[in-house]
Amino acid sequence: MTSSVSSEAAIVCADAQMPRSADDQLCDLWISILKELAPKLQRSLFITWFKDTALLQRDGGTLVVGLPLPMALNWHMEHYRGDTLAAAQLVDSTVKKIVYQVDGSLKDNKERTVDLLILFPEQRRRKLPGRQEVKLAEGIVSKILAPQYTLDNFVVGNNNRLAHAACQSVASQPGQKYNPLFIYGGVGLGKTHLLQATGNAILKQMPRAAVVYTTTEDFTNQVVEAIRSQKMEQLRRRYRSVDVLIIDDVQFLANKERTQEEFFHTFNALYEERKQVILSADRPPQELQLEDRLTSRFERGMIADISVPDYETRLAILTEKAREYELFIDMAVLQFIAEHTTRSVRELEGILMQAVAQYELEQRMPTVKSIAEIMQKLSKDPYAREEQTGFEHQPKRASTFQDVLEEVSRYYSVSVNDMLGASRVREVLIPRQIAMYLGKTYLRFSFVRLGEVFSNRDHTTVMNAVRKIEQKMQDDAQLLREVRAIAQELDFGR
Ligand code: ADP
Ligand code: MG
Repeated sequence: MTSSVSSEAAIVCADAQMPRSADDQLCDLWISILKELAPKLQRSLFITWFKDTALLQRDGGTLVVGLPLPMALNWHMEHYRGDTLAAAQLVDSTVKKIVYQVDGSLKDNKERTVDLLILFPEQRRRKLPGRQEVKLAEGIVSKILAPQYTLDNFVVGNNNRLAHAACQSVASQPGQKYNPLFIYGGVGLGKTHLLQATGNAILKQMPRAAVVYTTTEDFTNQVVEAIRSQKMEQLRRRYRSVDVLIIDDVQFLANKERTQEEFFHTFNALYEERKQVILSADRPPQELQLEDRLTSRFERGMIADISVPDYETRLAILTEKAREYELFIDMAVLQFIAEHTTRSVRELEGILMQAVAQYELEQRMPTVKSIAEIMQKLSKDPYAREEQTGFEHQPKRASTFQDVLEEVSRYYSVSVNDMLGASRVREVLIPRQIAMYLGKTYLRFSFVRLGEVFSNRDHTTVMNAVRKIEQKMQDDAQLLREVRAIAQELDFGR
């Protein structure tokens, strides 16, 4: 475990009253340097790579930095030497050089190293109410477009070239050429990414445009609510005032006649005013089983599909994602992932995220072997190795944390929202702790990440919760059985 927090952490290396020893001075200098460095690096990486480091020696202008593991040596030399030197020079301009020395005794040595978790506490992000949504003019609500989805960081391959080009064209001339634009393809192949990226691109050029991105589910809910409160006219008016309407996953319009009807009218109104409409679904329009008039509207515009990426594209996507996560992974490892993960891009990303977790938890550089282990754990089921496009017959897949939440919620009849929220009643508390325990034990989520999921709780809170459940399970056979049953349902069985 890497993230335990000790109350008597060695933040201050020596008592201020005592005469300063040479070691104390080195320690203080190192802390000053770390303080310059920390804001320049992503926090998780900073903690991973600077944990258990120390300034061992100073020889004129040369600083000898001690590293706890041989593995860290190359990494520091390649990635952090320049930054470390620059930071050191800000603190003391006579420093000229950084050299490294591996010293195994630094590992977990509280006396000689600095407790980074205490010295550099996580800046808690403040959760704003309704953060997921933004209100546009006239009461129109759009989901917030995720800024990380751009057309530039969407990797283009044979599987998605047409869809990407169409989005680019729409982004530069919304409402002009391809209207509506209909993108279809299997789960996790990049539809949402493209739709949001297009919205982002339009907003970049026209910041004042009313760009609405919504899911079919949300749209349906609004229609239902408007019918209930007899405000249908108002809803219509609102939607007709948008400039660009983006609706994700329209396959969910099937069997919702009233929503289809509303959508049809909205669509026509926007279309006639040459406002851009962008849609996605998991299959082509004619297979959606919608009203004919709606299907034919969709077919009137541009239809582009996204299919499963080939090996080269998968590798390119992995490389791009690793770059975005500031993750330095051996090419052989990326190639291995690309070779063996064929179903969807989301799956590719999932494996990469596991590698990140491994980094954070164990300070282990992912290797082909460790990745192979992760992949094996994730795909115990017989479908896993088959190539699947991801739609129609959805293959059984490894459980995600959402599955954990849903399974625990089902088992104890407590809502997911309650589990994620603040309630302290026992009926909610225990399921919450169990969900955290499962996430930690089976999905190898870090305490920090779990804390974020559970309404930005502090990671120590999560740590205590997990410990508590572990302890309770030792004395309470009933609880142990329950947790085992849930784990089994989730296919986590040992
Ligand atoms: P869908 O909506 O089709 O189910 P998403 O758009 O949610 O899929 O994509 C799943 C993940 O894969 C996202 O994180 C997305 O950024 C990523 N992704 C998919 N295709 C690409 C691509 N060609 N380049 C970069 N990232 C991609
Ligand atoms: Mg999607």
